[in-house]
Amino acid sequence: MEPREKFDAALPPAMAVDGGEASALARRAHAEPPHPYRAPFARDMARVLHARAFRRLAGKTQVFTRLPAEGLSDHFRSRLTHTLEVAQIARTVAAALGLNTELAEALALAHDIGHPPFGHAGERALDRALRRHGMNFDHNLHALRIVTWFEERYPAFRGLNLTLAVREGIVKHSRDYAAAGHPELAEYLLDEFPPLEAQLIDLADEIAYLTADLDDGLGAGILAVDQVREALPFFRTRHDAALDDAPQAAAKLAADEALRRMLNAFVTDLIVETRAQASALGAATLASIRRAPRRLAALSPPLEAARAATKAFLYANLYNSAAQEQEHAQAEKVVLELFDLLLAEPGLMPPDHQTQIPGEGLVRTVADYIAGMTDAFIVQLWTRTLGQR
Ligand code: MG
Repeated sequence: MEPREKFDAALPPAMAVDGGEASALARRAHAEPPHPYRAPFARDMARVLHARAFRRLAGKTQVFTRLPAEGLSDHFRSRLTHTLEVAQIARTVAAALGLNTELAEALALAHDIGHPPFGHAGERALDRALRRHGMNFDHNLHALRIVTWFEERYPAFRGLNLTLAVREGIVKHSRDYAAAGHPELAEYLLDEFPPLEAQLIDLADEIAYLTADLDDGLGAGILAVDQVREALPFFRTRHDAALDDAPQAAAKLAADEALRRMLNAFVTDLIVETRAQASALGAATLASIRRAPRRLAALSPPLEAARAATKAFLYANLYNSAAQEQEHAQAEKVVLELFDLLLAEPGLMPPDHQTQIPGEGLVRTVADYIAGMTDAFIVQLWTRTLGQR
């Protein structure tokens, strides 16, 4: 076999986050002794992995859980399996760029930890419920509350006591918050962009779910291969190539191969383009990434166009499809009705949630309680309380 050409996209080491014990970004709110053989971000990765909120991702919808004809199915992504796919991609990209892979993986594992039940329908409903009271739901900020407060695993403090880099990345991986509007987040350097390890998470997330949702949509029979071919040339050219390489392949395997090539093309492009943008800065430090004119983790224009087209196609034909309408309507009904019930009868919440009311207010307490629920738990609670009224 021919030796493969060496793929070298590593950035200068000073552009990566320093993960050593002495690093300013490895600082924790409560000082802890160093671990004899694990670096700070590796410990954070494990803390997220061992969190209750992480385990509950197994019971939260990613896009859908039902087959149109047959009802519930176990074949599709949950938020947990989606999260593991994002972690795989983030680790690959970070390693290729010479970044801190443990930080990237910790951030990927945490990136959806703040998501409420029922996927985006649940998030929209919870946000609507809060807006009636002049508040809103933001899953990044909710994730920060989970890791800094709700998780209780240590005698000496609440939360997971994660490093500054991981908390900053949880806040800033997918959007920028104006410093003026969020004085409570001052610690997270809102006027600066996050390190590349955090910047790449949002695109790793999109690459993971766009290809996975095509896969699940095809598997569920909500999407058809011809329909995807027609709408997305980026898929079609890869599907054609897969069929050229294996003309006898079963239809499912040809589609699998096309999706694998799509994913690989997105990941490779993310590595190459991010490297090009970071190199173009002409400086080789983390500070230069933080103060760059824009976020640097990016896809090149043609792949960015393919990403946007894939997303638009999925919104029109999967996320907001007629097949999904009933599931979304039911999700919204359950969240909104339960929200109002818990406002009226806070005693229905467990005692440890009720203790939060004096400090956080009733509305936020109810939102936090609902946001933490799995799909099955919220349905069970709704059925027990409202389903019979
Ligand atoms: Mg995600």
